[in-house]
Amino acid sequence: AAGIRLQKLLAQAGCASRRQAEVMIRAGRVAVNGLIVTDMGRKVLESDEVRLDGHTVRAGQSRHYYLLNKPVGVISSARDPRGRPTVVDLLSGVPVRVYPVGRLDFDTSGLLLLTDDGELAYRLTHPRYGVEKTYRVTLRQRVAPEALRALRTGIFLEDGKTAPARVRTAGRERECEIVEITIHEGRNRQVRRMFAALGYPVLKLERVRFGPIRLESTLKPGLFRVLNRREVEALR
Ligand code: URA
Repeated sequence: AAGIRLQKLLAQAGCASRRQAEVMIRAGRVAVNGLIVTDMGRKVLESDEVRLDGHTVRAGQSRHYYLLNKPVGVISSARDPRGRPTVVDLLSGVPVRVYPVGRLDFDTSGLLLLTDDGELAYRLTHPRYGVEKTYRVTLRQRVAPEALRALRTGIFLEDGKTAPARVRTAGRERECEIVEITIHEGRNRQVRRMFAALGYPVLKLERVRFGPIRLESTLKPGLFRVLNRREVEALR
């Protein structure tokens, strides 16, 4: 018959290994179209509704997506030749090998996505797709109106002129000026270099948005969570 074996579907969906899935089936934890199935020969089609412990299982849904609030002092590649802590070290208990989507500097904090969905990661970081990223920038002094205008127009850096950015001042915090800037390029240390070029050294840099995903204030640095389905759909 057409379709794939139930235990294979459960494995592909990331519920368990195929062997574990057989145990789950035998234990009566798996239902197809509302009926418990305990025999191993059962094949299922895309149109069949499969549930494990009452929860719907979807084939091919084996990708994992995490949102980490990266702290300062951690590198955002999966491995560091110098042995410094990496963002992957922070994802304790995550059962799969995931990779950071793009990068944040060692001294930058904030929203970093990690996934094993290489295709989506590629699209989200490719300049062609121009995903918007918003940063909260902490500066020592107020930004002059001309500097804001320059950021909105584009700034000449050694690797060329930056694309127009969206910028707004976002108040003050402990004697410092907070500015929010949204860019869709992703050059190395771009935000720091843009402000430095105008004479404003960046004291603190935090990413608060990546495409449609915003960092919630309750997720403190070092903490991570799973992206919900709606967020994953929005990224696609
Ligand atoms: N711009 C920077 O300067 N640093 C980052 O980590 C991200 C954007």
